[in-house]
Amino acid sequence: MEKIELLYEGKGKKLYTTNSENLLVSEFKDDLTAFNAEKTGTEFGKGALNCKISTEIFKLLEKNGIKTHFINMLDDSNMLVKKVDIINIEVVIRNIATGSLTKRLAIKDGTVLPFTLVEFYYKDDSLNDPIINDEHCILLDLVSNEGELEELKRLGREVNVILKPFFESKGLKLVDFKLEFGKDSEDNIILADEISPDSCRFWDTQTNEKLDKDRFRQNLGNVKVAYEEVLKRVLGE
Ligand code: UDP
Repeated sequence: MEKIELLYEGKGKKLYTTNSENLLVSEFKDDLTAFNAEKTGTEFGKGALNCKISTEIFKLLEKNGIKTHFINMLDDSNMLVKKVDIINIEVVIRNIATGSLTKRLAIKDGTVLPFTLVEFYYKDDSLNDPIINDEHCILLDLVSNEGELEELKRLGREVNVILKPFFESKGLKLVDFKLEFGKDSEDNIILADEISPDSCRFWDTQTNEKLDKDRFRQNLGNVKVAYEEVLKRVLGE
């Protein structure tokens, strides 16, 4: 499948049209601007690692009945996906408190949450992706009705029910993660974007060592090693 025209460039990926109207190529980028605009230029093959990890996770989710935009991997950094209209809501699922949750509500870092917390953030860089509630989602026309919000929450929780034990079996705690959904040509809500150490927090079950983009953001070093370790465990190697 050939890339024809650049349709969209985000922080982590570029989307290209193809000669098939309903298919796009998602190219996973190497640069690290997604983490911190000032710290670019330390590429380590992140695109290929994230593409491979996402591929395995999308396959696992599809196998468990979750509809995704994934079709197949074209090469190390390029994935063939279904074209969707992205819903501009970042659906964040949390099992353990850390990051913005601990800052916003002074919950102690590392607290195991008594239930799976689902949050919505408005996908808008110029506003720094603020947290929003259900009514904001309707007010901003991000979805057509409350039923769609319930669907996003249900799908988010279902993904967690599949992924949490999967990562647990690989010696990783799935701390929290961000999902993006879109509507396909038949108006079905399907999972899109990526699932990788850029969009999830993984802590080693034994040591609590961070194996995700926080290694980079918190200057912990060994970012490449961490992403490679996640891929290795996901592949069961
Ligand atoms: N996240 C993401 N993209 C964003 C914001 C958050 O992928 O633009 C993910 C992040 O990797 C983490 C979860 O969503 O797994 C929760 O992030 P949080 O709200 O704690 O924000 P952060 O501390 O990462 O800025």
